[in-house]
Amino acid sequence: MSKVTVIGGGVTGLTTAIRLREAGHEVTVAAKDYLAGTTSWVATAIWHLFWVEVDERVERWSVTALDELIRLSRIEETGVTLVRGIECVRETSPDAEDFVQGRTGAAWQHIVPSYEALTLEELKGRLPWDYPLETMLGGYIIEVPIADMSVYLPYLMKRLEHLGVRLESDTFENFSEVEERFPADWYINCTGLGSATLAGDSTLRGIKGQIVRVTHDGSITEYIADDFSPRGMTYILPRGQDIVLGGSEDTDCDDSNIDDQLAASILARCAALVPDIANATVLEHLAGLRPYRPSIRLEFDPDVSNLIHNYGHGGSGVSLSWGCSAEVVEMVGKAENGQSTH
Ligand SMILES: Cc1cc2nc3c(=O)[nH]c(=O)nc-3n(C[C@H](O)[C@H](O)[C@H](O)COP(=O)(O)OP(=O)(O)OC[C@H]3O[C@@H](n4cnc5c(N)ncnc54)[C@H](O)[C@@H]3O)c2cc1C
Repeated sequence: MSKVTVIGGGVTGLTTAIRLREAGHEVTVAAKDYLAGTTSWVATAIWHLFWVEVDERVERWSVTALDELIRLSRIEETGVTLVRGIECVRETSPDAEDFVQGRTGAAWQHIVPSYEALTLEELKGRLPWDYPLETMLGGYIIEVPIADMSVYLPYLMKRLEHLGVRLESDTFENFSEVEERFPADWYINCTGLGSATLAGDSTLRGIKGQIVRVTHDGSITEYIADDFSPRGMTYILPRGQDIVLGGSEDTDCDDSNIDDQLAASILARCAALVPDIANATVLEHLAGLRPYRPSIRLEFDPDVSNLIHNYGHGGSGVSLSWGCSAEVVEMVGKAENGQSTH
């Protein structure tokens, strides 16, 4: 078994380190920031695919991750729970055509705890009478995992500590610095948007997202998401101890400052969808940059033979994490058995 340094302490780095350690490798994690310093901390963290190009690999990773998140939802200390709710489908939704054709063949539909399509009439009956329906086609009721990242990330770190993995704080300008300070047989780059400079990846860009955390008095138990509303992405997601209101997708912004006007608009949009939201108290505003690139980079580096990249998960890093980490373990295993690394 090998010595491995995982660079990055967000959800991608932590889950990758867990799977590598469980496979018997000696693992160290080294990262500039953990917890609130990462994009992962900001995530609404529902299992879904968003700001990611879906191909056969992404679908496979998402199914593996879904399975594991469902398992973790049975363990209280993880901060992962199952939430049932409604996803609205509009003419502009990526799955609009499949929805209209009545196609329900996606691999995940067979493992989510429940899935049921709703006609426009059925959906209308579940929305406020004056909710704007333009472009609305219908929806579906689904049950999926969601994580409260303020509980889930500490849980993943604790799990690593129990496995004997060291969590180091350090910032790297290049991979030679990683090699000097944390020498290993393998290096796994899980630095998210940090790879724009660390790996010199000019295809990476941040897609800004902003959310509002509000108090949860227990009266809202189901979620509702109207992500493709012409008025702006709208969702209300109860987690264990809070409700997350969203959201936004800004492609032209490279900072993660809170936009007050946007925050007010999120609150108004959510109150239009679920009027009780107007009574909730705001706990916190959060914003972050989703690490997006045209396709997730999960591959051996073409020039450095013992470096594997695992970054660029867009708006789906939580939803793909356990699938991508399983793939990294498989890649290391195959390379050690002398199989091709390219
Ligand atoms: C508002 C919002 C809502 C979201 N909702 C969801 C959702 O519902 N579901 C979902 O699946 N995803 C969601 N996402 C996306 C998700 O947050 C990301 O895909 C995920 O967090 C990426 O994780 P990561 O570990 O790859 O990157 P990060 O969390 O950014 O971690 C990167 C790590 O690398 C370290 N690092 C970077 N550069 C260096 C360097 N040079 N040297 C040392 N360390 C370095 C950082 O310090 C950090 O530890 C959302 C994102 C946002 C902003």
